[in-house]
Amino acid sequence: MKIKVEETPLYIKVNPKDNVAIVVNTWGLEPGAVFPCGLELIERVPQGHKVALTDIKENDAIIRYGEVIGYAAAFIRKGSWVDESLVKLPSSPDLKELSIASQVPESMPPLEGFTFQGYRNKDGSAGIKNILGITTSVQCVTGVLDFAVKKIKEEILPKYPNVDDVVAINHSYGCGVAINAPLAEIPIRTITNLAKHPNFGDEALVIGLGCEKLSPMRIAPDREERDILSLQDQSGFMSMVQSIMEMAEERLIKLNRRKRETCPVSDLVIGLQCGGSDAFSGVTANPAVGYAADLLVRAGATVLFSEVTEVRDAIHLLTPRAVNEEVGKALIREMEWYDQYLLRGEVDRSANPSPGNKKGGLANVVEKSLGSIAKSGSSPISGVLSPGERADKKGLIFAATPASDFVCGTLQLASGIHLQVFTTGRGTPYGLAMAPVIKVATRNALAEKWEDLIDINAGSIATGEKSIEEAGWEIFHFILDVASGHKKTWTEQWGLKNDLALFNPAPIT
Ligand code: CA
Repeated sequence: MKIKVEETPLYIKVNPKDNVAIVVNTWGLEPGAVFPCGLELIERVPQGHKVALTDIKENDAIIRYGEVIGYAAAFIRKGSWVDESLVKLPSSPDLKELSIASQVPESMPPLEGFTFQGYRNKDGSAGIKNILGITTSVQCVTGVLDFAVKKIKEEILPKYPNVDDVVAINHSYGCGVAINAPLAEIPIRTITNLAKHPNFGDEALVIGLGCEKLSPMRIAPDREERDILSLQDQSGFMSMVQSIMEMAEERLIKLNRRKRETCPVSDLVIGLQCGGSDAFSGVTANPAVGYAADLLVRAGATVLFSEVTEVRDAIHLLTPRAVNEEVGKALIREMEWYDQYLLRGEVDRSANPSPGNKKGGLANVVEKSLGSIAKSGSSPISGVLSPGERADKKGLIFAATPASDFVCGTLQLASGIHLQVFTTGRGTPYGLAMAPVIKVATRNALAEKWEDLIDINAGSIATGEKSIEEAGWEIFHFILDVASGHKKTWTEQWGLKNDLALFNPAPIT
């Protein structure tokens, strides 16, 4: 399925200072291929991999995005393939030497006139889905709850067509854990905030066992006794199932009466993530998502970007954008915390990227990070959240999470995202039960191969058929259509739902 425009050898050079560029052509290029600028390849270079634009001496800087992504492990001839073995990893930016709030971007003009159709919640927030959430205080109840949810979906939910879904918040926490360890606050606040998710319409139920360490009242302090069921109080299995079903139906009746109403874009909380990244992520999908993020911020929304290990090596480009000293210091605090966390586990940041990332042309975590932060667009960074904290500000927020797709997804849900925009180059079918996931492809070939999984193709930015701005607007409009229930993502259409994955850095007993 080669498209005509790809027959010409093409590369993408991001910044005038760069001495490497990535090959665009889907099948890579053979030695002898000549680019329009006259550069001739002296060996084969796969798609997304780097070609040397000049001779690079041993130990000289290899520059992409105008930044040093590494140092040459040997002499690299102009026109040759700069594969990962030739790129020596530079050290991370020193957290003590960072400039804070020194280049705060000027606020762009507000974007007026955009709204979505959402469900107004009692606490003033809005939801984009009308879901009955059933949360759990301990993993012990999962089997019973799953049995009950299956019956609810088959026997009761069809009577309430205005309710989108019934979702069990199953997790691996609650007992057999050092619940008073200082770091236990992360999984506990994650579970607590998941139960308060805006897509649940403030009707969440809580199922507990009765003898667990994490009490239902601790994770749902605002719930009344009638919202909580302890399985040890029930007489046998069928009584447990029956009780859950009855409590669910009471709430389904209420949820079914809700109607969508016009809500301002400022009610939206949008999460950004990348997974299965490749060398195109940073030049196609991520900048397009960054453009959409700027539009959302201009329209008053809250936008979260995350993935500490993928911003750590580009942190010197982020702290200057912090809106003030306090936000800049909070960014550095989250980086320091993660450095220590990795150190305790006796690994370093080279544990990221994955083998697939490397196959896609990413030499190391520095190159990956420079591409990853393009998702954050160009707005000032107005706040920082520790893992699992609920977003309480508008604008662009850094929500500290691991880069792991499922863990980042779970933590962003706890922070209250209505939906997640997910860029991918290698491809992943990842989805979430509580919120739609919009997939944005970095390459034409992936969008064509996975046409029933990819919602938006940003790959055509690489071939010049679409601009970053056009793709950004496309993503922005699609977000509002999905939020309004006018369009469905592929993950919603197929019902693709990954398990929640808690971030628990505390001991298990
Ligand atoms: Ca990720």
